[in-house]
Amino acid sequence: MRPIFDILARELGTAKVLRDEARLEAYARDESGLGPYPPEAAVLCDSVEEIQLVLRLADEHRVPVVPRGLGTGMTGGALATHGGIVLSTERMQRIKEIDPADLVAVVEPGVITGVLQDAAEAAGLFYPPDPASLAMCSLGGNVAENAGGPRAFKYGVTREYVIGLETVLMGGTRLRPGRRTAKGVTGYDVVGLFCGSEGTFGVSSEITLKLLPKPQGVALLLAVFADPVKAGEAITAIIRKGYRPRALELMDRASIDHVRPKATYPIPVGAGAIVICELDGDEAALAPAVERCAQACDESGATEVVIAADEAQRRRLWETRRITSPSLRHAHRYKVSEDICVPRSAIAEMLRRVDKIGARHDLLMATFGHAGDGNLHVNVLTDEDHREAAVAARIQGALGDIFKDTLSLRGTLSGEHGIGIAKQKYMPWEQAPELIEVQKKLKLTLDPKNLLNPGKIFPT
Ligand SMILES: Cc1cc2nc3c(=O)[nH]c(=O)nc-3n(C[C@H](O)[C@H](O)[C@H](O)COP(=O)(O)OP(=O)(O)OC[C@H]3O[C@@H](n4cnc5c(N)ncnc54)[C@H](O)[C@@H]3O)c2cc1C
Repeated sequence: MRPIFDILARELGTAKVLRDEARLEAYARDESGLGPYPPEAAVLCDSVEEIQLVLRLADEHRVPVVPRGLGTGMTGGALATHGGIVLSTERMQRIKEIDPADLVAVVEPGVITGVLQDAAEAAGLFYPPDPASLAMCSLGGNVAENAGGPRAFKYGVTREYVIGLETVLMGGTRLRPGRRTAKGVTGYDVVGLFCGSEGTFGVSSEITLKLLPKPQGVALLLAVFADPVKAGEAITAIIRKGYRPRALELMDRASIDHVRPKATYPIPVGAGAIVICELDGDEAALAPAVERCAQACDESGATEVVIAADEAQRRRLWETRRITSPSLRHAHRYKVSEDICVPRSAIAEMLRRVDKIGARHDLLMATFGHAGDGNLHVNVLTDEDHREAAVAARIQGALGDIFKDTLSLRGTLSGEHGIGIAKQKYMPWEQAPELIEVQKKLKLTLDPKNLLNPGKIFPT
């Protein structure tokens, strides 16, 4: 037994240093479906001083530390693949400040994203990043993964809203990169570097976020098409008309067929694609804008277009999209959800290729996602036992083909979920050895002993 755990238990109290197998089970998995990887201990920190203590002792005792928010990550970033400590920020849930004059919020890393959104809206403000997991993921995890969501098309991803950080390096050094002002270019953009670093650079202990004034109104339309090509044309037409919807979402036929039995909106049989287009802004301008977007869908061959008449219907129509991922998961024994991103103009071609990949490997594919950004969640589904060698090989073959086609269309491996351990072996397919080497050196500058979340992102 390593002495560090006794020291931590003495310093922090046994309630914060979990070591028994049963309690560690919850920290052995995340939403990637990989693992389990039980850590030797989970330490539940309440303050920056406690985070500093853990990282100082772990550095001295050469014990790996894996930061963890709420464990909703899809690529295994929060898993203790090398044993050691899981440092959880789940208890650090304080919203320290919401300032309507400066348009900033200062939060602890464990604050649930949706909780901050509600608090901001109650103050007449708006925090746009909206991962579909917003009711159960933390802002610390969002920063580490540079999380996106449907509204990224208009408002961008988490990085655009993080203006200041307090972060602790392995060894316990506390840094406060960034600012509170609307602008600022003093020194390198260290905050930007930490966003999307997947918990390998430091542990965030405080986050300063930019807020916006709350948009006056929101309008939504749902359009049904016979096939994704027509849906793609409608998306292009909406953008060409000069509109910047806050969300432009796409579902393919397989996703629609899984959602239909549960959807409150009666989706027509034979629907080959659905587009959801949501606009926000000035109340008076919204009604004509959503009408013109509906017209663009009609002109592109929509078989049905519904404009939400009120807030309740808007929420119901969104529900069609929100239940897609859980519906796929419940319907099949195994689901792996990929998160590729292709140039918008290549969406229809990518969907055609995904169908072919499914047929080639005899696997069911369902694709949905943020079409405005070209960010597609391609789901590989099977009712066979995915642990059987032959089935596993087919799944791996399909994933490899998805990534090859994505890159050949000038896309990228991940739009929002990160690399973690799930996609590290594909990194060299996208990035040159020199670029990978530079990033590894950067990591070792901040963490010379390679103890903070080791074995992630880069091929091992
Ligand atoms: C149903 C579902 C829908 C999802 N939809 C989206 C979506 O629309 N968009 C999207 O981007 N993601 C989505 N995700 C993925 C996931 O919710 C995000 O990646 C989220 O940002 C993870 O937050 P978390 O608190 O759960 O982090 P965790 O899973 O606990 O950790 C994720 C990573 O962040 C690091 N980390 C966590 N906290 C800290 C900290 N304080 N300091 C440093 N590093 C830290 C961890 O080491 C790990 O590498 C979805 C997941 C699910 C299950």
